Amino acid sequence: MSIFTKIINREIPAEIIYEQDNIIVIKDIFPKAKTHLLIIPKKEIPTINDLEQEDRELLAEMFFVAKKVAKDLWIDEWYKLNFNVWEKAGQEVMHIHLHLLSNI
Ligand code: AMP
Repeated sequence: MSIFTKIINREIPAEIIYEQDNIIVIKDIFPKAKTHLLIIPKKEIPTINDLEQEDRELLAEMFFVAKKVAKDLWIDEWYKLNFNVWEKAGQEVMHIHLHLLSNI
């Protein structure tokens, strides 16, 4: 079970910014910008390389959640979104997550 699944299951604490049936948004514990959020699907998909066709809508939904949260937090003037894929690119948690970073 990934650390993010434990957060989703409320087994370990996190600052939850937003939640819906299939996605959760938390504050990154080691922020690399003034605002650093993680948009996490509740389905435990290890890396972007493991995406299946059936995940298309979920992945698209993650971007809509990013847009909504950025607007709600008034940081939609500029922000960065990124996925790290595998350790060499900096992926530490093997449960896909979209980083949302802004310094507004
Ligand atoms: P990545 O390096 O792309 O796998 O991103 C994982 C991110 O999760 C890192 O930026 C970590 O700081 C963050 N992180 C790890 N554990 C936690 C946690 N318990 N709560 C919130 N963020 C976490």
